[in-house]
Amino acid sequence: MRRSLPIVTPSSSQRYDCHLCGACCRAGFAVVVTDEERERIRGQGWESEPEFRGRPLFIRQIGGQHILAQRDDGACLFLGEDQRCRIHAKFGAEGKPFACRPYPFIFLPMSGQMRVGLRFDCPSVAASRGRPLAQHHADLAALSPQAVPAAAAALPPPPFRPGIHLDWHDLFRVSAALDRIVAAESLDITRRVLAWADVAGVLGGVKMDGLEGRALSEFLDRVVGNRLKRLPDDPLERKPLSGFVPPLFRQAVGLYGRLDRVSDTRVSPAGKLLRAGQRLAYSLRLLAGSGRMPRVRPGLPQVPFRAVERSFGVPSPEAAEVLTRYYRVKLGSLGFFGRAFYGWGYLEGLGALLLTYPLILWYARLFAIGEGTDAISAETVQQAVRVVDRPRGVAVPLGLRTERARVRFLCDHENLTRLIIWYGS
Ligand code: SF4
Repeated sequence: MRRSLPIVTPSSSQRYDCHLCGACCRAGFAVVVTDEERERIRGQGWESEPEFRGRPLFIRQIGGQHILAQRDDGACLFLGEDQRCRIHAKFGAEGKPFACRPYPFIFLPMSGQMRVGLRFDCPSVAASRGRPLAQHHADLAALSPQAVPAAAAALPPPPFRPGIHLDWHDLFRVSAALDRIVAAESLDITRRVLAWADVAGVLGGVKMDGLEGRALSEFLDRVVGNRLKRLPDDPLERKPLSGFVPPLFRQAVGLYGRLDRVSDTRVSPAGKLLRAGQRLAYSLRLLAGSGRMPRVRPGLPQVPFRAVERSFGVPSPEAAEVLTRYYRVKLGSLGFFGRAFYGWGYLEGLGALLLTYPLILWYARLFAIGEGTDAISAETVQQAVRVVDRPRGVAVPLGLRTERARVRFLCDHENLTRLIIWYGS
């Protein structure tokens, strides 16, 4: 039997329990099945049920892997009308492919422990509904050995920044220092994220010689302490976005909002051509930023681009609570770089995480306008977090070199600061 590593969940107020909404089964995730699981599911006799007759249960992907088949709308073939998994209903959790079972948890082995992150595309996670995470430890400990071999926890971390390596304990120190800023909830969220971006900027430029262990902790205490002291007086001056920033940011908006599904790969050549043409048209509209937001996924309000650009003020404490939880879970689990995020290094992954702040608030504005309100609420932020977190770490386009270059450009300190203030105030 494989040994379980100590489970470490983020120390935020985050809660979760599954409320059986079926959203994860409709999200178009590729559920990989092993040969043994394929045999087991075939043996469950689905082919004899009328709605499965003549339908393949699995799709073979390029590279030979098999995944669970999906319906044309991207939902899992096994999702029942009652929004429950039919395999689970008939054969229990053990009857399903293992890949379905940990969701929405993400196992992140490091330094002899199993850090656990969460996917915020799950509505119960976004709304923090259920038990505190500590109450899931026993279930997580039972699942984790099958999810990730314990040996993975002995692997060294990816670089802190190009050419600079820190050990896991030093990365824990950096994340804990950044978490201190995000957790300072008496201050508004936009100023907190600005301070976080500033400290990330300092870490990107400072000479790291000798900065490890205790010296690193003292350095971080000083930098974070000073930044927190100045934070209430930060002016939030909205400087217009200019140059390549608006078109490249809007393209990132489109990429994060896009819902790529496995069923997309099964369309006919003519359908593929049509889809490619549609994507090109969307991309050009996003670049131009005129007219209405194209419907890059079903259910998005089609709001004029212009309407999203006005000031909405700093998010209210209720809306800020959702964002605070989101960032504390990502920082606490270290689920924003390395194997959780396309193998990127620490600071590069941190940049992509910081960029989600203006992205989430862009979508929150879109949902608010779509609902006919002029304020961002906790609910609209939850909707936006669900959109923006869905592709992170799993959508192929976000891991491409072109996207890396875009993140680098938008996360240049001046550009990022302007984006945070523009959409965060
Ligand atoms: S999306 Fe979340 S709450 Fe809904 S069924 Fe999946 S795990 Fe449960």
